Amino acid sequence: MAKGLVLIADDDEPALDILQFLLQQWGYRVITAVDGKDAYEKVGIFKPDLILSDIMMPYMSGYELCNKIKTELKDYFIPIILLTAKTDLDSKLAGLNIGADDYLSKPYSHTELEARVRSLFRIKELHDELSSRNQDLLDLNQKLQYSLDENRKLQTELEEKNQQLLQLSRHDGLTNLYNRRTFYEFMNSELSRSQRYSIPLSVVMFDLDHFKDVNDTFGHLAGDFILRKFAKVLKKNSRQNDIITRYGGEEFIMLLPNTNCEQAEIVAERIRKEMETSTFSFDRFKINLTISCGVVEYRERDKDKENFLNAVDEELYKSKRRGRNCTSVRTVEENI
Ligand code: GH3
Ligand code: MG
Ligand code: MG
Repeated sequence: MAKGLVLIADDDEPALDILQFLLQQWGYRVITAVDGKDAYEKVGIFKPDLILSDIMMPYMSGYELCNKIKTELKDYFIPIILLTAKTDLDSKLAGLNIGADDYLSKPYSHTELEARVRSLFRIKELHDELSSRNQDLLDLNQKLQYSLDENRKLQTELEEKNQQLLQLSRHDGLTNLYNRRTFYEFMNSELSRSQRYSIPLSVVMFDLDHFKDVNDTFGHLAGDFILRKFAKVLKKNSRQNDIITRYGGEEFIMLLPNTNCEQAEIVAERIRKEMETSTFSFDRFKINLTISCGVVEYRERDKDKENFLNAVDEELYKSKRRGRNCTSVRTVEENI
């Protein structure tokens, strides 16, 4: 099997024939060029594995040919041996400096030429293998970068989804207020903070009056609309760290840290009055409704949150019994 493709460039025809004969004998495939320009064109077409070139040639010298190939074909290694009658050191150095891989003076020993050609073929093989491994590494690196980017994207999506899930699990879908479960978490921590540092803590419970009638008269969608509106009224009338919760269907509860029952009553009354004086427009309907409120400040005797919440429920029912649209507060005497 032929060992590889050698391009021989020489304007001296007998010299060219001898080289071609020798290389073919050593098992190489050969193409020939009669000057530098011809050689340069054939390099582009045949991509030889090795070039043997004379220096003094018409149109383009061996130096120029070497220089053009080494500067233009940077990614593709073609070893070049310059063969010349010039024997002085300066000519040799000029050739090597320009990028020739080897330099042989005419007349050359055939055995030496064969050895040098073989050695450059070995170097080229190693070089090509290295380039191919390098390319594999670059490809691998690119794939790795791609999977890293994909991974990062997936992780961001996952974090967003988790965030959404957390939001869903902690909030009520209709009003976007906290749900009962989240309320209990806040209640536990606020209660222990209040007990430990003797900071006042109050709760206000709200219930929409005759809300069933709103649904029955104006429809369930109108009822939903009112619930959302009421949630907005609660938000508008609260402070940043008040915990506003949709406790049940049309029952809401607000936890007011660092607030005594007098202050909590003011908040409840402000909300009650706003509802009393508001008219909500839904479709062609004008809807008026009132709310009832219960207010309780935590006292030591309450001990746990169940008693505390039962107490506020009791105050709310007092308001209902009193005829609705009012606020009942556990009295100071009761608080002792
Ligand atoms: P009261 O003044 O005694 O509180 O009377 P009420 O009609 O408000 O109380 P009741 O407990 O009899 O009725 C509550 C109504 O609230 C019944 C129920 O259909 C309605 N409700 C509960 N949750 C929702 C909801 O998410 N959307 C709508 N539109 N209505 C709801
Ligand atoms: Mg009600
Ligand atoms: Mg109710």
